[in-house]
Amino acid sequence: MIRIDRTTCCYCGTCVAVCPQAALELVDACLEEQEGCSACGTCAKCCPVGALEVCHEGQV
Ligand code: SF4
Ligand code: SF4
Repeated sequence: MIRIDRTTCCYCGTCVAVCPQAALELVDACLEEQEGCSACGTCAKCCPVGALEVCHEGQV
């Protein structure tokens, strides 16, 4: 899964566009994580403001 820093996210939509699982969606002005994230890390690498962090299972 992915951790979203909502105070940093500027809703640019880059992560939504690059996610190969279509697991991210911008709903109004709020980034939501949907089912299917494979924790590939692509979105976190592409976020221009560093608002995303991949959390692997078992991590708090
Ligand atoms: S880690 Fe990968 S699969 Fe998960 S939301 Fe980001 S781009 Fe999509
Ligand atoms: S790429 Fe970063 S700033 Fe842009 S919508 Fe995703 S989390 Fe927010």
